Amino acid sequence: MTPLLNVKDLRAYYGQVQALHGLSFSLNEGSLTTLLGANGAGKTTTLRAICNMVRSTGAIEFDGKPLNNKSTESIVRFGIAHVPQGRGTFTTMTVEENLQLGAITRTDKAISSDIERMYGYFPKLKERHTQQAGTLSGGEQQMLAVARALMLRPRLMLLDEPSFGLAPLVVRDLFQILGRINRDEKVSILVVEQNAQLALELADQAYVIETGRIVMSGAAKDIAQDENVRKSYLGY
Ligand code: ATP
Repeated sequence: MTPLLNVKDLRAYYGQVQALHGLSFSLNEGSLTTLLGANGAGKTTTLRAICNMVRSTGAIEFDGKPLNNKSTESIVRFGIAHVPQGRGTFTTMTVEENLQLGAITRTDKAISSDIERMYGYFPKLKERHTQQAGTLSGGEQQMLAVARALMLRPRLMLLDEPSFGLAPLVVRDLFQILGRINRDEKVSILVVEQNAQLALELADQAYVIETGRIVMSGAAKDIAQDENVRKSYLGY
């Protein structure tokens, strides 16, 4: 089976600073994969490199086709949606306008029914659909960012640290919904997280990244049992 995303020997650079040092990993269609690692390990850079937002070398293939050096627009057309850390919603627009914007590249007629489906996952967004995005709570903004990305009908959603700055209960709720979205929307998800415990509960596959290299990979349930992972990332 061709992996949906296949990354080989990825090296990324910020000017003279090399942030990724030959990183390789892959994920299959339908999977929910997590990339774990400490601060500065290179998680965000990996997602940026996939989206061609940082200079990189190596091979990035999506469904068997090369993705390197493609414009953001063509990456979106490939079916990849990126939810960056910090969410990036349009703060002066309403919730509903944000969702409509998420579908801007689509020409089909199912946009209103997709918005309703997103409200099904995130009822809080429906309650607040006329409210300016900038006035939502952190958790609601994160939900909006995810819902907006899904409005593209992506095949792969890249999520950068969705738990960042959110209260534990809000994070649990969000992660549960991400699991449902992965199953019901048939969208593959690559989630980058510092909250290893939750990410490993959610994901089926996991990779551990240290200083720009993958140091461990496997089924999330096996990685969660690994002694080094438990000591370094789970704190027990
Ligand atoms: P965090 O969880 O703290 O966001 P991360 O695993 O996502 O960490 P990256 O943000 O990918 O890590 O950073 C990887 C390395 O690249 C770090 O050493 C970081 O200092 C460096 N780096 C990131 N962005 C830049 C930049 N704009 N200019 C120079 N170096 C950068």
